[in-house]
Amino acid sequence: MQFLFVLSIFNYERSYLFCNHSLFFQPSLIQPTDSQLSLADFDAVKVIGKGNGGIVRLVQHKWTGQFFALKVIQMNIDESARRLIAQELKINQSAQCQNVVVCYQSFYENGAISIILEYMDGGSLADFLKHVKTIPEPCLAAICKQVLKGMWYLHHEKHIIHRDLKPSNLLINHRGEVKITDFGVSAIMESTSGQANTFVGTYNYMSPERISGRQYGYRSDIWSLGLVLLECATGHFPYSPPQQEGWTNVYELMETIVDQPPPCAPSDQFSSEFCSFISACVQKDSKDRWSANELMAHPFISMFDDLDIDLASYFTDAGSPLATL
Ligand code: ATP
Ligand code: MG
Repeated sequence: MQFLFVLSIFNYERSYLFCNHSLFFQPSLIQPTDSQLSLADFDAVKVIGKGNGGIVRLVQHKWTGQFFALKVIQMNIDESARRLIAQELKINQSAQCQNVVVCYQSFYENGAISIILEYMDGGSLADFLKHVKTIPEPCLAAICKQVLKGMWYLHHEKHIIHRDLKPSNLLINHRGEVKITDFGVSAIMESTSGQANTFVGTYNYMSPERISGRQYGYRSDIWSLGLVLLECATGHFPYSPPQQEGWTNVYELMETIVDQPPPCAPSDQFSSEFCSFISACVQKDSKDRWSANELMAHPFISMFDDLDIDLASYFTDAGSPLATL
């Protein structure tokens, strides 16, 4: 009891000192390499999103005032799966690229994995698309350039296949930055799904080779990128169901992706560069797909360079849903 009291006095003094002297000196901001964070150091602000696996909250660090996103995934798993997850998350923590969301720390407590992530105040591209419906080509090229940089980093520097690239895993902020998140998370889900039965992700953006259970590699992320871009440009998911009532079940969509020709951008609505870029991503044979590096040199990526697209204003003016705290 006494110990707790001393501890709370200490914490009170720390915050008091920070509050009163913040005009004179700034408490040093938390860096991704700081490994001393604990969940008790954060105040919950509000829920900012819900996925299939868990819940994402905006939280504020008590001593520095910094905002973070705290993602909590419920899963009751055994010791070996826990070790595997800890290992995967360590890889995420060491990721250093401007276009990849920083993972500060992760914890396993009471049957849940909690991950402290960089807070992206514009939310996801999925949230943004609900507001704007479609994204014009010049902005899309600027967004794509950043996603490709992040993807190149994951593929070539970290040797990570994302496995779950989709609009909700591309996050944006008021500085006009676009960053990839949740890399490695789906690998964790997959490898533990037998035990935890938690994998209920979407198959929408999954490459044909993955759906059919064949070997897959980095280029299966490129397939997903192609579908995401096409959806952003046209405002709807590129595969439409054969009947008006929608897809009868998930297998019908999976079969279509595997058996039918890939989707393409309508050439009467989009530039030939954009159409060719999409086609370079959604080749059904993964060997024919371009790599992230090759795509960065595709004419679509540089065709609007002289317009000096300002994504910061574009995201802010379009009223991204999370921008206000
Ligand atoms: P799934 O569970 O299938 O992966 P998802 O990607 O939508 O779906 P989450 O990753 O839990 O699920 O994210 C849910 C939402 O939370 C996102 O769409 C986004 O709006 C918000 N979000 C997630 N991470 C952050 C973050 N770092 N900063 C700001 N918002 C975030
Ligand atoms: Mg996600």
